Parts: sequence; C-alpha cells; structure tokens
Amino acid sequence: MKQSFPGGIWLPSLKQTTAETPVQPITAPERVVLPLIHASGNAVSAIVKKGESVSMGQKIGHSDGPSTAHVHASLSGTVERIEPWPQVTGLRGLSVIIQSDGMTRRVDSPTGGTSDPIQLSSAAIRATLLESGLLGMGGAGFPTAAKLGGLAKEPAQCLIINGSECEPYLTADERVMQDYPDDVILGIKLLAKASGAERVVLAIEDSKKEAASIMHRHRGSDRIEIVLLPSKYPQGSEKQLVKALTGREVPSNQLPHQIGILVHNVSTAWAAARVVRTGFPPLERIVTVTGPGIKQPGNYLVPIGTQLSDLIDAAGGFAGSPGKVVVGGPMMGIAQADLRAPVTQFVNGVLLLPEEQSSYPEPIACIKCARCVDVCPVFLLPMRLEAYAMNKRWDDAAMFGAEDCIECGCCTYICPSKRHLLHWIRIAKERIATTPDDAD
Ligand code: SF4
Ligand code: SF4
Repeated sequence: MKQSFPGGIWLPSLKQTTAETPVQPITAPERVVLPLIHASGNAVSAIVKKGESVSMGQKIGHSDGPSTAHVHASLSGTVERIEPWPQVTGLRGLSVIIQSDGMTRRVDSPTGGTSDPIQLSSAAIRATLLESGLLGMGGAGFPTAAKLGGLAKEPAQCLIINGSECEPYLTADERVMQDYPDDVILGIKLLAKASGAERVVLAIEDSKKEAASIMHRHRGSDRIEIVLLPSKYPQGSEKQLVKALTGREVPSNQLPHQIGILVHNVSTAWAAARVVRTGFPPLERIVTVTGPGIKQPGNYLVPIGTQLSDLIDAAGGFAGSPGKVVVGGPMMGIAQADLRAPVTQFVNGVLLLPEEQSSYPEPIACIKCARCVDVCPVFLLPMRLEAYAMNKRWDDAAMFGAEDCIECGCCTYICPSKRHLLHWIRIAKERIATTPDDAD
C-alpha cells in the first residue's frame, strides 16, 4: 500500500484544461499593488514615499522581524499612492501602488547573484533568501528564511518538497516542474544545503506522471528521493505530508519545522533557485487561471502585484456571466469580493465559476451519518464543532480541537445534508483565537 494519511477524500481532478499547456507570460500591467502586510497579518514598514521613482527589484518595504519579509517593486515606475487596499484574504492592508513607466529599469542585483549557486555556503544561501523577501508559494505565504531560521533541530532531519498540488483545477506546481525542471532541482539542492537536511524528498501525486518523469531525469543523483503519493485530498497539506512520508505526527499547535522537518512547496524551490542565481527578489510567479468562467484558461507568469482584474483580462476575460472568483482551489480557496486585490507570492490559482455554479444549497438537518468524522484527516468531530459554534460555546469548541482543523473542507464536501461545517468551524477558530483566556 502506498504512503498516505487517515481520512481525506477522492476528488475529480479537473486539471486537464491547464495541465497540458506550457506557462506563458502576461504583458506587464500598468499598475501593481504591493501589500505591506503578509497573510499572517504581520506588516512591514514602507521605505518609499508617494511620488518617488522606483526600479524593478528595489526594496520598498523593510522587515525587521522574523515573521515578515522585505517587499520589492515588481516593475519600474512611480509610487502613486500608499494606502489601505483590498487583499485576496478579504481584509484591507496598507499597500504601495506603483504606476508603471513602461520601462524595465532594474536596480543592480541587490544580492549579487552567482553563476555557481551550489558552491555558496549554507549561511550565504540563507542570507540571500532573507534579503530577497521570498515567501512560501504554496498558499500559506510563510517567509522561507524564517522557516529555515526556526528549525528546532539543525541539521533538519528531513526536507520535504511539496509537489502534491492536491486541490482540483490547480496545475501551477505541475507546470513549474515540467517547464523549469533545472531551476526546481537547483532550488531543492539549495534548500537542502541551507537546512543541512539528512533526507530530501520530493513528493508528487501519482497522477502527475509526466512531471515526475521529468524530475527523475533532471535530479542528477539519488540524493533527492522522488516519492509518488496517492492523489487523495488533502495530500498536500503539510501535516498530512509529514505523516505520509515520515510516519511522524506534528503536534497540535506546532509546525513541521518546529520538529525538525522542513516542508517547502515546489514553486518555492523554483523561486529560491532564481533568487540565488540572479540575486534578484521574486518579481513574478506562476498562477493557474482556470474554471468554466474564464475564456483562456492556462498557467501564466504574472508580475507580483498584478490586480486580479488585470490577470482575468490577460486570460481573455470572463466566459459568460461571472458568478464567483476564487483565489486558490475550490476546496480551500477564498471567494473574492473585490477584483482590485493583487496577486501576491502565495496566490497559486484563480478559479472562475459562472453564475449557475456559484451557489451552495441550503443545509438540512444532520442525519448523524458520521461521514464528516470518517473523512476528517485530523480526527475531529465536525458536526459537534459546528453545533458548538452555532451555540457560541467557544470553550467546548476549543476543548474538542477546533484549532487543529486544517480547513481542508472535506467534511463540508462529503456532508449529505449540505451543512456548512467548515464555515462554522472557521468562526469558532477565529473566536477562540481572539478571546482572551480570562474572558467570561
Ligand atoms: S456528514 Fe453531515 S449529516 Fe452526516 S453526521 Fe456529519 S454533519 Fe451530520
Ligand atoms: S473539521 Fe477541519 S480538518 Fe476536519 S475535515 Fe473539516 S475542515 Fe477538514
């Protein structure tokens, strides 16, 4: 039996429309929006002013803490405004808005670059990644250098490169392995060197045979194990990957790097290679634009800071009457209320659904079938958590492990009564996180 994890569900892949066409660059937009706030909610300070001229790669936001990363201009032009702006997270965050001058003026390579990156020392690789402001490109947006710096044990016991991409529709990681194999392998080697990892594993779902075969051809030595995992959702979730590949459980309220296991997304490895090789910060990323609601689905190389509306235009615009725009996949993605929100380093996909596919049925009574329990990969009781949340019993929700929910949505997907389980569990998590311990 193949390595896997308990629970989970088998979903239709819906990846065919974008998996088979190579990545194509979009034309640089007239304006980019660069948030000074990260997905974690932590912010960095602006170091440019309105009206100032900036070059590509210039640092415009300075981080002075381990949980944030520097922010850089992704095109050359003028700082038009610095003000709160809609974000893909649904919140507003202070952002630097740059109007393009139509040129591609670059700063001198901020960290130098090298023609032989693998000869760099571990400390030099870490320093370059820190200066570059690289964030995890798998969806969480955690600073790459911070994961390396936060390792509980050095060297790392295991480096896992996550090429699972288990959400339906999304193929950005699959294409990065096919279209940029040398940079992916270089990035894996650099992250392995920076962490000193004893074991290096590239995990790919068994449905991505072409990508796996290309990675085999380019890895160069057996130092990188390539492991095919069942295409079960949420295979790409960090804790589930760690369990499947090492047999170890990541304790509640901890992250894998805190137990000496480093998990990086395969697109992060690709970006790390480019950063170290060129000395430039990450100025673009690959985004899957997909779904029945877009005219030209595909994988696009997109300047960081491109607004969703510009990206949708670059992909041919809406097909039919727009219903829902989701950043991420259909299971864990975030529905967007404002298409001025920009693509950030952690935006891996934009899913467009037409109006007729955008509604969710009204829930009916729970029939106590326990299917939600069977599929929960972290052994929670979703129907009970929902009931606690609906009755504002936050202490009970906490006692029954609401904070361990990885928000995979398996419970909501499988529920025959169409109960909005994850919606209520998210509310419980938010209330538990924001309620002081000594509150009544
Ligand atoms: S799957 Fe739905 S109907 Fe079944 S026990 Fe869970 S909440 Fe109730
Ligand atoms: S309770 Fe959370 S972790 Fe469990 S299936 Fe539902 S969304 Fe996933």
